[in-house]
Amino acid sequence: MDLFEHQAKELFAEYGVPVPAGKIAKTPEEARAIAEELAAAGTSRVVVKAQVKAGGRGKAGGVKLADSPADAEDKARQILGMDIKGHTVHKVLVEEASAIAQEYYFSFLLDRANRTFLSICSVEGGMEIEEVAATKPDAVAQIPIAALDGVDRAKAREIATAGRLPQEAIEGAAELIERLWAVFVDEDATLVEVNPLILTKDGQVKALDGKVTLDENAAFRQAEHEALEDSAAADPLEAKAKAKDLNYVKLDGSVGIIGNGAGLVMSTLDVVAYAGEQFGGQKPANFLDIGGGASAEVMANGMEIVLGDPAVKSVFINVFGGITSGDAVANGIVQAVKLLGERGETVDRPIVVRLDGNNAEEGRRILNEAGISVLEQVDTMDEAARRAAELASAGV
Ligand code: GDP
Ligand code: MN
Repeated sequence: MDLFEHQAKELFAEYGVPVPAGKIAKTPEEARAIAEELAAAGTSRVVVKAQVKAGGRGKAGGVKLADSPADAEDKARQILGMDIKGHTVHKVLVEEASAIAQEYYFSFLLDRANRTFLSICSVEGGMEIEEVAATKPDAVAQIPIAALDGVDRAKAREIATAGRLPQEAIEGAAELIERLWAVFVDEDATLVEVNPLILTKDGQVKALDGKVTLDENAAFRQAEHEALEDSAAADPLEAKAKAKDLNYVKLDGSVGIIGNGAGLVMSTLDVVAYAGEQFGGQKPANFLDIGGGASAEVMANGMEIVLGDPAVKSVFINVFGGITSGDAVANGIVQAVKLLGERGETVDRPIVVRLDGNNAEEGRRILNEAGISVLEQVDTMDEAARRAAELASAGV
C-alpha cells in the first residue's frame, strides 16, 4: 500500500524525522485557513501540494508556492480537481515553504534481486532518480544494508558520504537517515523514499517530500495501518471482496472469472483474453482466486462479487479438483446458486464451468443433474474460455 505524501510525512514526524509544518485541505477556503495559521506562527510563505499517489507532481503544476493566505487559497483552487497522471486531486497539503539551498535524493528499499535491503543516496535530488542514474551514474550511491546489522549513525554517515553530500549536510542527513531506517523497519515498509531531501539555507536537513510503501503482508502486526488506507479510491467491488476475504481484482472486460489457485486463474485470464479476440475483443472482467479448499459459501460470495459487476456478461468458473475434489466443488456451485437465490441475487447471466482433476466426473454429473438453466459445462479450458467469450459477446 502506497501512502500519500502527507501520510508519509506524518509517519516521519512520529519518528523524529524533520519535515515542514503543514496540514491537509480539501477546499480552497481550508487552504487559506491553514496558511493563516502558519502566518500567525511566523511563516507567510507556504507551498500548496497536490496529494495524489503519483510522482512528478511538481512538473505537472501540482506544487505551487504562495506568498499569502489569499494566494494559498488561489493556488489551492487551481490544484484541487486537477488531473495528474490519471489521479484527480481531492486534497492539498499546505505547508510552510522551505528556503532550499540544495536538493538530494535518499531511499531505503527492498532489493529483491539481491535478497537484501538497499539504500540509494545522491547529491543530485529533486528529479527522477532513474534519470540521474542514467545520465550521472557516478552520482548515485547504492549501499546494501544487512538486515541483521541495520543502520546506525556510522552506517548512515557512510551512506550520506557515498552519495557525495557536502560536508555541511552529512551530520544532519545521517541523523535523518538513521531515523528513516526505524520507519522502514518498525512500520514494515518496502520503500521509504525522500526526494528531495533538502539542505535549507540555514543549514538544516529536512524531508521535503515522502513516499512510503507499506507491506500489506504485515497487516496482522500493524493494526494502525488500516486507517491509512484510501477507502475513497478503492474500487467498491474490491472493497466488498476484501471484506469477504476474497482475492479479487477488478479488470475492465466482460467475462467474469472464478478459479481455484492463483496460477490457474492467471492462466485463465490469458486464455480468455486470447479466445476473446475472435469475439470482438472480449476480455476478463476480473481476477478471482477462491483458493484450494473453497466451500459453497466462498463460491457463493465469489459469484456474488463477480455478478455484482454490471460489465460482466458471462462467467467462467474454472476449477481443478485437487485437495477439494470435483464433487465437492460441484456441490459448492449448486449450493452457491441456491444461496444467491435466497439472498435475492438470482443468477441471470450464463455460466460456463470447466471442472477437471480429482473426482471431476462425479462433479460433472452433479452439475448436470442440478439442471441449472444458465449453466453449461465444457470439458477443456480452451473450449470453455472460447464459449464464455462467445456468450459475453452475445450478451453485450
Ligand atoms: P514531486 O514533483 O511529486 O516529486 O513533488 P515534490 O514534493 O518533490 O516537489 C517538487 C519540487 O518542488 C521540489 O523538488 C522542489 O524543487 C519544489 N518545492 C517543493 N516544496 C518547496 C518549498 O517549500 N520551497 C521551494 N522553494 N521549493 C519547493
Ligand atoms: Mn518528489
